[in-house]
Amino acid sequence: MKLIVGNWKMHGLTAALSEAEALKTALSATPTEARVALCPPATLVHQMSAVLSGSAIETGGQDCHDKPSGAFTGSISAEMLADAGAGLVILGHSERRAAFGETDAQVADKVQAAVAAGLEPIVCVGETLEQRQAGQAVAVVSAQVAGSLPHGLAERTFAVAYEPVWAIGSGLTPSLEQIAEVHAAIRSALIDRLGEAARRVPILYGGSVKPDNAADILATAEVGGALVGGASLRAEDFLPIIRAA
Ligand code: PGA
Repeated sequence: MKLIVGNWKMHGLTAALSEAEALKTALSATPTEARVALCPPATLVHQMSAVLSGSAIETGGQDCHDKPSGAFTGSISAEMLADAGAGLVILGHSERRAAFGETDAQVADKVQAAVAAGLEPIVCVGETLEQRQAGQAVAVVSAQVAGSLPHGLAERTFAVAYEPVWAIGSGLTPSLEQIAEVHAAIRSALIDRLGEAARRVPILYGGSVKPDNAADILATAEVGGALVGGASLRAEDFLPIIRAA
């Protein structure tokens, strides 16, 4: 079963919940094979999980702190996200790695905190354009996978998302061969860490997934789903991506 996750980033006031409602209505009329989640800004997690209750669509967060509580002004813990109704959390997104200097080690701590709180982390990795042009994509991504996963992680508790930095929000996507190559490298990094059980970890592709390229990307080897930014904001764009799974 493919996992299709919408990342709303810092988009969406209360009125945007109507898009979640529309998605719920459409998917209850015609159910999907896919597992679907929406990750709104933290301010909407609680209301969105209420709107989506009674449907199969899950709610997630976009980041969390690595401590359960404490003097960390402005931060939100994994427990708090779970308490608000989230079941998943995106961690280590390249926008956070770039803008907030998040390192692999910090992402690994957050992953551990998320799992401890009962959330399913979606751990993001991806190379920059300079790294790809220098032929380093596979090496960079493999190192990020190794460094961003805490020790003792079980294969059923998390997903990985391959998001080339240069493909995010740009309308550019790697070729299907390039996606397959990096996904295969991620799979082997996971097997190095977890053994054969790692074959169960979903590896999502993210970066300019749209209704017109979703089917081809989702049919590519080792692609277990999609992490969708811009095209997840409106139900009319997100639905055809879900239907493509
Ligand atoms: P995009 O974003 O689909 O708008 O490229 C994907 C992401 O950053 O998760």
